[in-house]
Amino acid sequence: MDANTLLRTLPKVDELLKREDVAELDVAHGRTLTLEALREALDATRAAIRAGDLAEVSADAIASDAAARLARKARRSLRRVINATGIVVHTNLGRSPLAESAIEAVAEVARGYSTLEYDVPSGERGSRHVHVEELICRLTGAEAAMAVNNNASAVLMGLAALSRRKEAIVSRGQLVEIGGSFRIPDIMRESGAKMVEVGTTNKTHLRDYENAITPRTGLLLKVHTSNYRVVGFTEEVSTEDMVALGEKHGIPVFEDQGSGVLIDLARFGLPGEPTIGAAIAAGVDLVSASGDKLLGGPQAGILAGKREVIAKLKKHPLARCVRLDKMTLAALEVTLRLYLDEDRLLAEVPTLRMLTMRAGEIETRAGALASAISEACGESYDVATQPDVSRAGGGALPMKDIPTTVVALEPRAMSAVALEERLRLGEPAVIARIKDGRVLLDPRTLRTDEEPEVVSALAYVAREG
Ligand SMILES: *Cc1c(COP(=O)(O)O)cnc(C)c1O
Repeated sequence: MDANTLLRTLPKVDELLKREDVAELDVAHGRTLTLEALREALDATRAAIRAGDLAEVSADAIASDAAARLARKARRSLRRVINATGIVVHTNLGRSPLAESAIEAVAEVARGYSTLEYDVPSGERGSRHVHVEELICRLTGAEAAMAVNNNASAVLMGLAALSRRKEAIVSRGQLVEIGGSFRIPDIMRESGAKMVEVGTTNKTHLRDYENAITPRTGLLLKVHTSNYRVVGFTEEVSTEDMVALGEKHGIPVFEDQGSGVLIDLARFGLPGEPTIGAAIAAGVDLVSASGDKLLGGPQAGILAGKREVIAKLKKHPLARCVRLDKMTLAALEVTLRLYLDEDRLLAEVPTLRMLTMRAGEIETRAGALASAISEACGESYDVATQPDVSRAGGGALPMKDIPTTVVALEPRAMSAVALEERLRLGEPAVIARIKDGRVLLDPRTLRTDEEPEVVSALAYVAREG
């Protein structure tokens, strides 16, 4: 048959809609998207005929092409993935998963009305700050606190409130870039503060700060170098010494602490990252940190410090621009409450549970996962367990190799690169690492209920290629 004859045999959209399978798509996805998918499938068929790639027209093929297109159209853009990388606070994968009780609180306030800005006893307008302020104060020893959209906005607002049109002194060793476009010099410029750099990349002394103080100085800024370390011949001024200098000259001290550590991680064999409470105890006027890094909560910026400083921040025009919504506040409140009971904290906050997971537990899980894979996939993969390292991620604990046991897979019928891609393109996507020609799966960041899903994904690839 020539192309023109074939084109005349193409079914009409109306005819296709009468098919039982297409009618089901129509019910599931609605008329607009179904028509769009049918037209696209017909256009693709027409193009194939014109190109001489098609010898006959099949309504079944057009309907199933439309179904595949609809499935792609209906697939959410923001969706779950399985993190088998062993990078706990994986920024690209959404940083910290939330505790179940936090998720329940989010669902509850999202579903209906809430006390967001309503004071129940008086029946009058309340403040959204009350839901987390006391908790943050209790956990850090601060006089006052608030939470905003993220730590970047916390830093911006802190700088704007304390050093707009004034000089802010910061060490050259702390002019960090956090990834994306968050760079301390840029944020300082946007805040209206005039950045005064002191010291060198590797060494900054207290006298460097002192020599830079002028009548225009409004702030001493300390930035935690959360995602890198200057090692070797180095010197950084302690928070205590900066506070003493600030007090001598009547200049406030702001510490951007970054990772959001509320408990002493050294007890769990992790590096003793500075805590928010330590900055408060050292006497800083203001400290800021992320809610979704090591704290293990939702994306948020925690601001804690002196009463007058927080009062000023709450009244600042930017406060409204960077305020938290009710769902995040609900998750943050519940996450912070879990810190009141350390046993529950380590059991229920996924980020802390994963970071503090015992080596023996991971080894056992890796062994069980390897056996399940071998059983489900036959000879498709060479499966072994081996020691490797997990990472805290999120720019936290950059120097720390956290020992782990991974499942290492060497596919027999394809390359490791191809297997990694097949896993990534599956549903749900399984994100794995490649090392030395093997695909590595780290049980540290897998929920136990995700392990069977990983096994099925591997079995599917083994079957379908
Ligand atoms: C992560 C980080 C930030 C940015 O925080 P976000 O929560 O990502 O906005 C700022 N400063 C430091 C030191 C950080 O570690």
